[in-house]
Amino acid sequence: MMKRLTILLLLAFAGMLTFAQDIKNNPGSNHGNRFEQLGTILPTPNEYRTASGAPGPKYWQQRCDYDITCELDEPNRRLNGKETITYFNNSPNTLTYLWLQLDENQHSTTNNSGYENSSFMPKSVNEQDINRMEGKRDKEYGVNILKVTNALGTPLKYSINKTMMRVELPQELKPGKTFVFKIDWNYNIIERTRFGGRGGFEFFPEDGNDLYTMTQWYPRLCVYSDFQGWQNHQFVGSGEFALTFGNFKVAMTVPADHIVMSTGVAQNYDKVLTPAQLKRWQAAQNAKEVTEISTLEEAKTREKQKSTQKKTWIFKADMVRDFAWGSSRKFIWDAMPAMVEGKKVMCMSAYGKEAYNLYRKYSTKAVAHTIKTYSKFTIPYPYPVAQSLEAANGMEYPMICFNFGRCEKDGTYSEGTKNGMLGVVIHEVGHNFFPMIINSDERQWTWMDEGLNSFVEYLSEELWDNKFPVGKGPAYKIVDYMKLPKDQLEPIMTNSENILQFGPNAYSKPATGLNILRETIMGRDRFDYAFKEYARRWAFRHPTPADFFRTMEDASAEDLDWFWRGWFYSTDACDISLDTVKWSVLNDETVEAQKTEEKTIIQNVAKPIQNSFDDISKIRNREDKMIVFATDADTSLRDFYWRYDRGLAKVDTTPVSVTIPASSTEGYSNEEKMKIAGGKTMYELTFSNKGGLVMPIIIEWTFKDGTKEINRIGVNVWRKNENKVTKTFMKSKEVVSIKLDPMRETADINEGNNSWPLTQEPSKFKLFRSKANTPRGAAGGNNPMQREIKN
Ligand SMILES: [Zn+2]
Repeated sequence: MMKRLTILLLLAFAGMLTFAQDIKNNPGSNHGNRFEQLGTILPTPNEYRTASGAPGPKYWQQRCDYDITCELDEPNRRLNGKETITYFNNSPNTLTYLWLQLDENQHSTTNNSGYENSSFMPKSVNEQDINRMEGKRDKEYGVNILKVTNALGTPLKYSINKTMMRVELPQELKPGKTFVFKIDWNYNIIERTRFGGRGGFEFFPEDGNDLYTMTQWYPRLCVYSDFQGWQNHQFVGSGEFALTFGNFKVAMTVPADHIVMSTGVAQNYDKVLTPAQLKRWQAAQNAKEVTEISTLEEAKTREKQKSTQKKTWIFKADMVRDFAWGSSRKFIWDAMPAMVEGKKVMCMSAYGKEAYNLYRKYSTKAVAHTIKTYSKFTIPYPYPVAQSLEAANGMEYPMICFNFGRCEKDGTYSEGTKNGMLGVVIHEVGHNFFPMIINSDERQWTWMDEGLNSFVEYLSEELWDNKFPVGKGPAYKIVDYMKLPKDQLEPIMTNSENILQFGPNAYSKPATGLNILRETIMGRDRFDYAFKEYARRWAFRHPTPADFFRTMEDASAEDLDWFWRGWFYSTDACDISLDTVKWSVLNDETVEAQKTEEKTIIQNVAKPIQNSFDDISKIRNREDKMIVFATDADTSLRDFYWRYDRGLAKVDTTPVSVTIPASSTEGYSNEEKMKIAGGKTMYELTFSNKGGLVMPIIIEWTFKDGTKEINRIGVNVWRKNENKVTKTFMKSKEVVSIKLDPMRETADINEGNNSWPLTQEPSKFKLFRSKANTPRGAAGGNNPMQREIKN
């Protein structure tokens, strides 16, 4: 689902869980806490889920197949359905009952989950508000269960607890056995735009037509798993879904002039399309551009026609965790095949005339772009179709999603609407991967699908256009959230229903954390490999947070427990303060006899940066010659608003090994000393950790000649003292100022303590002759002084 960051979902109370931040390994100490392993906080590995984060040798999951027939009763705005469910018990356990989800009970006055939020007296009310406050509805909503029987028609016992239904099995269902049963049901379809909800109808008064989005529309099996048993936590509306994989066959009977777009592949286009449409569909299979199957003119004609005849569309989908569809006579439908990792995928869109100028130009191409980029960062898109429907919302299902973005009456649109539309299409299509394929439990962990998906959405937007105004990903954009008072925050590792601010907590903060891991902590190659491995291991399975945390470390050789602890299990923020700067220049008066040891350090030497601040991901993408942005590859994607500023800023962060030779007891002449160390200054910087969150320290030096240099100190510098760090540097040019995190990579919430003007007088350092003379090679070799001089 797409949550605008401005929407604050204020729930009545926060969770009472115990978090890792409270479990101190070495209380009262300045070390041994933030870097300790997660240990017992993670579940104990077993034969189903291994310590490496991969599925174990006895991993299992349930399967559930559906055969559904349903009829959309448009005059009564009602859906009537019959389903046959085949449940496969792949678990090692014997089952005596099954749990199903009745999500439409969200709208029932009697069977909703009964969760209440605080409510405050409004200053003004309208008729709708009054009806809502009085609990009035035009009719009764929620699922009517008409019949539950076994395959032969013998009734089965069942009972409904709010949004959950338990069906009792006539005999125990042993491991490896299947059970077939049938449910007849119906429900009144809610007006989504008035009463809320993820599915329902939208009424268009201008042409008198409905646009139906049929979602969570059939009784669906809950997940039964090795780590939880039945996931039958009630559906409140915020925490989304946990679903079992299976195969679907669905036949939906709708008004004859409706166009149906659905999860899966249509089985009978020859029966439901006009000959002209069928011809266009066949031609579209090999088209190079987006082509309309159901045209704008046809849609306008159908809007007036309002057929009372019926047609039945049949769709099949394999290995999906859910099934959704849209139906309307308003739909314009276009398609274009895309080659994704060597396989053809039909990318399609459907939208009313209200969205034509935006969707016709962008939607299907954004679908193709999204499945291509996600396939690169995760696993190849496995399904035959991918679709985006305009429905003035943002909600995801396998192979199909519903998005927003309508034009003005004159067909123009603002840049904000266009970027919002591209963002929501990329986001919702991206959900095919998280959680439709990498099938985490959304009801428990919102971040596992929304956070991971927002992260890859961010990567995809960055690859659409280097100028795309990304929202969720860059570190500096999460700062306002991270600096909120602690009572307004909860850790990412919080149950979905207890989150106060859905957008920042479950979307932006996890996406930002992954981006910081990729750009600043692990590096792109190591991160991308491990992230892809997580996707590969858990595609078409049910991963948990521990499986993600463990895989990211297992595949990269990076100990990230400190990061999971700080970023996911705590509400700490990064606030690294540059407390003091001491500096020291060459003492050319006397030389004293002394001995030191040779040592090697790694320095990251950066070339000067032209701009004071530019997003590091955008810079790196521009500098990566393998990257071709979508708006460059296909110039038809450039519109009125398309702009491109080619100002380049270069950062060379190649690490350089520097050996500081051992000193000897012999002295230098003054001339020699000046040659080696004249003009050198040493700087000793002290830092304190004011926010609690440990992070790499990124130091930008600005020299008197206007050039800059960046040093990157890895997070492990905090290991021995998590509160305070001292580091010393040698510089050959006069430093006029020092700034921490100049590219705003670490989400430091207080930039006021990040810089230091140099006003004090320097002290003096002494120079000793090296015992082991090091060869004088190229600049950047193992003699730091030489390299500095050459610079
Ligand atoms: Zn989402």
